[in-house]
Amino acid sequence: MKLEGSCHCGRVRFSCEAYAPVPYMHCYCSICRKTAGGGGFAINLGAHAESLKVEGREHLSVYQAELRDEDGDTRTSSGQRHFCRHCGSALWLYDPTWPELVHPHASAIDTPLPEAPERVHIMLDSKPAWVPVPHGPQDAHFPEYPSESLREWHARHRLLDA
Ligand SMILES: [Zn+2]
Repeated sequence: MKLEGSCHCGRVRFSCEAYAPVPYMHCYCSICRKTAGGGGFAINLGAHAESLKVEGREHLSVYQAELRDEDGDTRTSSGQRHFCRHCGSALWLYDPTWPELVHPHASAIDTPLPEAPERVHIMLDSKPAWVPVPHGPQDAHFPEYPSESLREWHARHRLLDA
């Protein structure tokens, strides 16, 4: 599925081919929440990195989070969070550890996206108390990351796009 996205001020526009276009996974981790999560969570989609086309690349900036492990050591996340340096819109995450993938934020996508048959709420251990989480029959909950990947979830629901 071809996705088109943009930042709010319109200086950055992008498109990509998504293999995992259904916005089902709500991530409440502190990085997603603070950089992209108006509702307390962010939703990442899966797309093919080589299909990414960007207009206005000069307006991009990249944020790489500092992560602290259990021993108190810090390291820089390999995840490169791309955002518009004028309006601050979070656009996509690219991690050179998986160079063939790019993860656009659903919030930046202008193409109508399919409605998810199930919502998966992840990293709930990082969720602040004020953020409500739906507990309906179509809601699954995980304190951290689930073992099922974006690709596996889409395959299980027969929603994987070539
Ligand atoms: Zn912008």
